Amino acid sequence: MSEKMNLKEMDQTYVAGTYKRFPVEIVRGEGSVVFDETGKRYIDLGSGIAVTSFGVADPIWREAVVRQAGQVQHMSNLYYTKPCAELARMLCKRTGMKKVFFSNSGAEANECAIKAARKRQAERKGPDCHIIVTLKNSFHGRTLTTLAATGQDHYHELYQPLTPGFLSCAPEEIPELPHPERIAGVLIECIQGEGGVVQIPPEALGRIADFTKRNDILLMVDEVQTGNGRTGKLYSYMHFGLEPDIVSTAKGLAGGLPLGATLLGEQVQDVFGFGDHGSTFGGNPMACAGAISVLSRIDDDLMKEVTEKGNWLKAYFGTVQGVQSVSGLGLMMGIQTDKPAGEIVSAAMDRGVLCLTAKDKVRLLPALNISWSLLKEAAEILKACIEA
Ligand SMILES: *Cc1c(COP(=O)(O)O)cnc(C)c1O
Repeated sequence: MSEKMNLKEMDQTYVAGTYKRFPVEIVRGEGSVVFDETGKRYIDLGSGIAVTSFGVADPIWREAVVRQAGQVQHMSNLYYTKPCAELARMLCKRTGMKKVFFSNSGAEANECAIKAARKRQAERKGPDCHIIVTLKNSFHGRTLTTLAATGQDHYHELYQPLTPGFLSCAPEEIPELPHPERIAGVLIECIQGEGGVVQIPPEALGRIADFTKRNDILLMVDEVQTGNGRTGKLYSYMHFGLEPDIVSTAKGLAGGLPLGATLLGEQVQDVFGFGDHGSTFGGNPMACAGAISVLSRIDDDLMKEVTEKGNWLKAYFGTVQGVQSVSGLGLMMGIQTDKPAGEIVSAAMDRGVLCLTAKDKVRLLPALNISWSLLKEAAEILKACIEA
């Protein structure tokens, strides 16, 4: 008990106060089950916000990372290291993209996407072609530039002036925008995660894609949350027949290590030359070894299971008293409830289930390999919390 007080006090004294934490310390886990400092068991439906793709301390992932740690944990980008090149090849082979830039987070992956679009279009069309169009209600990160890309005003207020040259629109407004010759790229999430698990209608996505193609604008898809198998395909754009020029991803890519990746398509594959962009940790061997392990397990069988489990969750919560609607795809689920989402998350935690909120919804992002029995056990508990 005093141990717990000590940790809470120490954290509140010394860690910058940006996070409102639950009064729980997680000390260890096994897959989709984690334990707090008192030994209490929780079923984890949050995966560290879509990060631990195969759960906590997964043995296959751990073996890959620990093996790499015993060989070389970091060397900088001054030298070749195998995991970095192998992972880049893997990502390109599975997406048809041509080259990869590695960083450490989703925000950085988006920064790189924006830099690539700006540089490419400035070279081809001149410096006036620099506007990046994003969607209202989007989330793209916390750096000053990715905040500017984020289409939610409340994130902007404290940090003016943000990077200029961003415009956020409703999906149906984009194809009607005037002066397309000034637009360098359109950056979208197919399913907005932080925005409340909001799926952009497929027809609207199609019209945005047509607009970018017709006007020689780069189509950029933010797959930071939706990527790496989360929605039942490797990347969510693959559900909608999109052919993005740039794809950014992070979160679940390395299964729990910080890794961002910006995938560059044919049009932008050669946009960066020596010294044009960089990252000290980007492409770090341990993170890349973790990602190779994660990606090599995201196959058709797993995607089928993710889809089935997602469909089951949707049907299950669709009939629960107190649920207004269920949104999302695969194991990325938003549940709109009568009761405030925060209350449900707290009640679920008391009863041994960890889940998240997104705007006013309860958000579920379980590990891709969560077992049916744990999923059903957690769903029953959550149902009880929603109905109560
Ligand atoms: C989480 C998230 C980001 C930011 O990722 P960080 O790793 O926190 O920088 C960007 N875009 C989307 C869609 C996200 O969900």
